[in-house]
Amino acid sequence: MAHAKKINWPIAISIGAIHVIALAAVIPALFSWSSFFLMIGLSIATCGIGISLSFHRSLTHRGLRLIKPFNYIAAFLGTLALQGGPVTWVATHRQHHAATDKEGDPHGADRGFFWSHCEWLIRNNDAVPNDAERARLAPDLYNDPIMMFLDKNSVLLQIALGVGLYFFGGLSAVIWGTFVRLTVMYHSTWLVNSASHMFGYRTYKTNDLSRNNWWVALLSWGEGWHNNHHAFQFSARHGLRWFEFDPIWLAIRGLAVVRIARDIKVPSLEMRQRLSLSSRA
Ligand SMILES: [Zn+2]
Ligand SMILES: [Zn+2]
Repeated sequence: MAHAKKINWPIAISIGAIHVIALAAVIPALFSWSSFFLMIGLSIATCGIGISLSFHRSLTHRGLRLIKPFNYIAAFLGTLALQGGPVTWVATHRQHHAATDKEGDPHGADRGFFWSHCEWLIRNNDAVPNDAERARLAPDLYNDPIMMFLDKNSVLLQIALGVGLYFFGGLSAVIWGTFVRLTVMYHSTWLVNSASHMFGYRTYKTNDLSRNNWWVALLSWGEGWHNNHHAFQFSARHGLRWFEFDPIWLAIRGLAVVRIARDIKVPSLEMRQRLSLSSRA
């Protein structure tokens, strides 16, 4: 794998522009509490439910199964996080688990903080799956026409959401609901790949640099308990010890009560003890 590849300018400019436009939020005329709460609500929907619950815990790792209509609604919400559609996201993430922190990992933390945070996205990157590799890594989604539709139209859907926000609440709703939301949520997701592979404690033996990081967990609804996650990838629950607060796990338990979430997987105490680095599991 070649290092320090050329910048992928369309991606770099798009991500840069989203950050720059988000700065308009400091203009007092563009602030309103309704836009602020809109941003929070859309962040929970698109990144909490969409990325963490759907793309990551359900679609990538099959830690739970969502009943059919909700499975697609949640994948639609994840697509609106503008991190690639479900097929691309899942294939890239499965590749991360297949070669964590070594050659072949799209965002291996062995190459440093900035690389694993966002440089991997803005440079041409051989480890990011191409179309044939997406079909191999995520055949379950690649062969699903609705998931493929979401994957191919993620930018169009984002633009449609932006137009809808404009008619709903003017420019203020667009700045907060799209640009501030995307900027903040990008960094919360990216910190899982960077900080949670560098800073924090390790509870379990894994062949990678994964760490449990409380502040990343707070910023990402529980995804920061990342050493637990690499140890038990199948687990719908990421925060395993009593103090490891994992809001998405609470959401999954709520969805299980109303029978929207099924086949929920968690590691047994014996599995945890087997991999534990200390007497506490
Ligand atoms: Zn994962
Ligand atoms: Zn990881």
